[in-house]
Amino acid sequence: KIRVRFAPSPTGPLHIGGVRTALFNYLFAKKKKGTFILRIEDTDQNRYVEGAEEYIIEALNWCGIPFDEGPGKDGGFGPYRQSERKHLYKQYAEDLVEKGMAYYAFDTAESLDLQRKELEEKGKTFIYNWHNRERLQNSLTLSPEETRTRLEAGEEHVIRFKTPHDQTVHLTDEIRGRINIDASLLDDKVLFKSDGMPTYHLANVVDDHLMEITHVIRGEEWLPSLALHVQLYEAFGWKPPVFAHLPLIMKPTGKGKLSKRDGEKMGFPVFPLSWGDSVGYREAGYFPEAVVNFLAMLGWNAGDDKEMYSLPELISAFSLERVHNSGARFDPEKTKWYNHQYLQLKSDSEIASLYRPVIQDEIGNKEDEINEEYIREVVSLVKERADFVKDLWGLSSYFFVPPQEYDEKAVRKQWKEHTPGIMKSLIEVVENVEPYDSSTLEQKIKDWIQEKELSFGMVMAPLRLLIVGGLMGPHLFDIMALIGKDESIARIQRGLQ
Ligand code: GLU
Repeated sequence: KIRVRFAPSPTGPLHIGGVRTALFNYLFAKKKKGTFILRIEDTDQNRYVEGAEEYIIEALNWCGIPFDEGPGKDGGFGPYRQSERKHLYKQYAEDLVEKGMAYYAFDTAESLDLQRKELEEKGKTFIYNWHNRERLQNSLTLSPEETRTRLEAGEEHVIRFKTPHDQTVHLTDEIRGRINIDASLLDDKVLFKSDGMPTYHLANVVDDHLMEITHVIRGEEWLPSLALHVQLYEAFGWKPPVFAHLPLIMKPTGKGKLSKRDGEKMGFPVFPLSWGDSVGYREAGYFPEAVVNFLAMLGWNAGDDKEMYSLPELISAFSLERVHNSGARFDPEKTKWYNHQYLQLKSDSEIASLYRPVIQDEIGNKEDEINEEYIREVVSLVKERADFVKDLWGLSSYFFVPPQEYDEKAVRKQWKEHTPGIMKSLIEVVENVEPYDSSTLEQKIKDWIQEKELSFGMVMAPLRLLIVGGLMGPHLFDIMALIGKDESIARIQRGLQ
């Protein structure tokens, strides 16, 4: 049975790269009828941020990719917060010490600094591994008695992994293929800290094993840790999971990793939900479907040029083999493009119900006075120009309130000496249009233009100015039909005063 996990550290809001990792885990799990687990990796208490866990859960839910097992949803492998599993880890680190694959180290920060300086003065770099272990204070250099005495005296210590110096570690990554690492270059990473907490490496490997994780799908920034993780599985005698490291998400320029600051500098969201001063995709008016769709295309495609995918379609098309192995460039314009597409795909009545509060806010009308059907018609006329629901007001305010002013430049160009006279006689024409619908209006006004030997431009541009306030908007007769005969006439009259 396939089991995957998303294992964020609650150190702040989840950024878009984290959401993509969660999404790929989710897609893989659902495709394989497996389980998607959320594990909170909160062993670093200094970096713990209040509210981050709630944020992560809310973000996953908003995206429509909830976890199957995790905090509050026990599937028999809990608890799912590492801080609540604290008691578990020490024994594993000590097991490795007993097997001779890890050791106690008593070096203080100061003594390590001293060693570092001393070596640097000789033009060498300090690595805590077989190169230098001998010069340091640890259970490999101290006698067993001395080690025991120090431990019993409660001297501060850590447990380090003893990296072999004469081995090549063979790694396999689903996305990157085979990688060989010369272990002699790796340092002896700390597994267990002096504060009684495991490091990320130990807790992560132990939990993946205990939670029976079959596939570890995570960001490329963890690739450098893979050699240690694989060695840890070997040391424990456990079968390692399959590993897949997802490509980095790059800045819009393509140079360097996308950061939170890029969003601030260039004015696009990098978080799913707002956090502090940073506006999230949700609050910026994005649909979760659009966010999920564009995230899925960051580093994956099905091998064709299809770009629009619903979540169920993503699940059936997804495979790790088709995840790219080079960085995925983040394109904020593409995100907007996706939102635009989803806005067009949604029904007019769904958009109308999202638009209603915006309208009521603008016109200060708290009652449900505006006719549902009316809003729907407006939406169908203008939505093709909108990327977001909030764009709709700018595109359609004149359906709800008469123009407050007329576009000056357009007036200068279109409003001629003869215009008031033409508009005045047009009122009569409009008055007599029956039935008052778009095509009848068009027919009658066109006939009249011909009959009076006027030009189309002489009538239509000023008329649009009076109805809309500017020269923008959809088909003018559609607008006039929708606002109704009385309102159309009132607007023409208003402009003539
Ligand atoms: N806690 C790590 C993180 O914050 C998990 C990395 C992993 O998935 O192994 O991303």
